[in-house]
Amino acid sequence: MTTSQRDFYAILGVERTATDAEVKRAFRKLAQQWHPDVSADPAADTRFKEINEAYQVLSDPERRRAYDTYGEAGLGGGAGGPGFTGGFPGFGDFGDLFDAFFGGQSGAGVRRGRPAAGSDLRYDLRITFAEAMKGAEKEIEFPVLDRCEACGGTGAKKGSAPVTCPACNGRGEVRTVRDTMLGQMINVTPCPRCRGEGRVVDDPCETCRGEGRAQRAKRLRVSVPPGIDDGHQIRLSGEGEVGRRGGPAGSLYVAVSVAPHPALKREGTELYYDLDLSIAQAALGTRVSIPIVDGEEEIEIRAGTQPGAEVRLRGKGAPHLRRPGARGDLHVLVDVRVPTKLSARQRALLEEFAAESGEHVGKGGPGGSGIIDRLKDALG
Ligand SMILES: [Zn+2]
Ligand SMILES: [Zn+2]
Repeated sequence: MTTSQRDFYAILGVERTATDAEVKRAFRKLAQQWHPDVSADPAADTRFKEINEAYQVLSDPERRRAYDTYGEAGLGGGAGGPGFTGGFPGFGDFGDLFDAFFGGQSGAGVRRGRPAAGSDLRYDLRITFAEAMKGAEKEIEFPVLDRCEACGGTGAKKGSAPVTCPACNGRGEVRTVRDTMLGQMINVTPCPRCRGEGRVVDDPCETCRGEGRAQRAKRLRVSVPPGIDDGHQIRLSGEGEVGRRGGPAGSLYVAVSVAPHPALKREGTELYYDLDLSIAQAALGTRVSIPIVDGEEEIEIRAGTQPGAEVRLRGKGAPHLRRPGARGDLHVLVDVRVPTKLSARQRALLEEFAAESGEHVGKGGPGGSGIIDRLKDALG
């Protein structure tokens, strides 16, 4: 029997002035950390029991006042001392612990006592490059488990209704209590009779055999925003599969794949075009026609443009998905091609060009090309 005074405030790590909400929050956090099913710490059982005892006292205004005034002695032995006594002392408000484990605040995760949500679906939508640039309205059709029209989704035959599950009284969960050396341990599992829904159908709908849903083809219009890119997903919440017996619908994820443009490469909002120029075009400058999002545009190449130069067309890229009206740039990346086949005249002209620049061209070492030159040199 423990006779020393324990500090329930210290156990929960709260101030003596802590509000009910603060006490509850501290308890949830510690319970999640120390629940023996979760924690691998050998002391978890003891610690969890202690946390729970402290919470039982501090969450009850009357018991908290008695504890504040008289210490544990003021509690009349109920929550003090080792070992649980009484019928269900472990969890006065079971919902507190349950919420702590199953995300009662966020709404995410498992919620028992109500039908589960339906599955999410994925639809693969292929669009053209132009549609990705301008945006598009697409009509899609897909098979989906939708609400059964015969029973309105309840799963019960017309004229009847689902009833509260007699096995769990509508809670959707079953608690089993077992005695251990450290007191009672409580195990919570979904009710096997109602699968955690809290309600059962005695007289099932004939159309859906009590499922509350049926397969049908669904048609939807999907707005594809301008600027969407390959691999993006559009989420349509509530357009997925409905849950059993009136459970909420999951989401439909429209996975977009965009056909590539034959000449333009895309990275986000930026577009790239590889432009090959001849030596003469690069040296002398020119005007060339290049593909843009909606057609072609003529651009000017200045005389003396080098390989690797970039001409940037501002605002001619892909639209920004989140900034309507804004667009990236189109980058024209210049390369200069050296000719590999020359006509006799082209060769002569290039040789002339080299001679004009005082350059040595063709085979042989500098200062003399061909064997004739060397012979001439040798003969003086
Ligand atoms: Zn039905
Ligand atoms: Zn049940």
